[in-house]
Amino acid sequence: MTARVLVTGAAGFIGSHVVDALLARGMQVVGLDRRHLGQDALADENLSAAAGNPLFTPLRRDLATDRLDDTLEGCDIVFHLAARPGVRPSWGTEFHDYAQSNVLGTHRLLDACARSGVRRLVYASSSSVYGPAERPSRETDPTCPVSPYGVSKLAAEQLCLAYARRPDSRLSVVALRYFTVYGPRQRPDMAIGRLLFAAYTGLPVTLFGDGSQRREFTYITDVVSATIAAAHIDTGCAVVNVGGGASVSMRGAIQEASAVTGRHIPVQVADEQPGDVASTSADLTLAGRLLGYWPTVGLHEGMARQSSWLVNLSRDRLAAFTS
Ligand code: NAD
Repeated sequence: MTARVLVTGAAGFIGSHVVDALLARGMQVVGLDRRHLGQDALADENLSAAAGNPLFTPLRRDLATDRLDDTLEGCDIVFHLAARPGVRPSWGTEFHDYAQSNVLGTHRLLDACARSGVRRLVYASSSSVYGPAERPSRETDPTCPVSPYGVSKLAAEQLCLAYARRPDSRLSVVALRYFTVYGPRQRPDMAIGRLLFAAYTGLPVTLFGDGSQRREFTYITDVVSATIAAAHIDTGCAVVNVGGGASVSMRGAIQEASAVTGRHIPVQVADEQPGDVASTSADLTLAGRLLGYWPTVGLHEGMARQSSWLVNLSRDRLAAFTS
């Protein structure tokens, strides 16, 4: 019988790529998301390949409020990617949604997993659980999130680990701390897509701060490989970094985007934003040891692939960059 798995956040950027990769491996995939397929153009585009696959079952559910037990029927692996992402809006009144979706939603999912006898949950954690760091972050480093988003991701990560550590638990957990993910279908609020969009339209991209802040960008196919590998490793509970192998300054990223597109990138400078750390960088030793992971797509190649995708965008997707 074909193995059946649940992917939460299936209509999103990373979730939809995980869905495609699992389907390509012949798995039966239940794709849960609160977005309304048929009424959300970007979600429809993300799942356009999956939608025609008989192994795929889309399911519209909100993790924070809807019943979940039936979604887990016959699944012994869950890839939990659903969350409200983004640092900046998490400071405001929208924090309610971060708490509901990221913390309460994760708790409800874990409860349902425990009841249904799920064997493995892979959780999409984030580099934002680390605070300011002067060297590549290791999983054993103290956590110190500097944004409400980071706090919500750390709270959910710790909830997952607590469920796995219960003495009577059959659920094992691998939490992957993703470092800034990019590639086709990237959320329109994220940096690389915005740089490429600025290159092609001539509309200025906003650079927060002086551009010296450094980010470790990780290409989507590498993230997907690590995520699927995490479903099968022999562990009761683990936390593992998933990074791109190098960090680059935002000024460096702008230069790279310019080199990839052969175009000037107009920039407008704004104040540094609260919650943005000066640098993110991943120690990937544990990822190599546990997952056999090493990133295979560098920033130039990854940007070139995202750029080829971006030049053929739908009107809806283009509009999302300017909204
Ligand atoms: P995304 O917004 O594209 O996808 C998240 C999906 O989750 C969306 O489709 C959304 O509708 C769904 N969702 C949110 N709340 C939900 C709820 N209550 N019930 C059901 N569905 C819900 O974001 P993404 O960039 O693909 O991120 C995926 C995951 O990876 C998130 O958990 C995010 O925190 C984590 N992550 C992302 C990055 C990155 O660089 N993109 C970095 C670190 C961690």
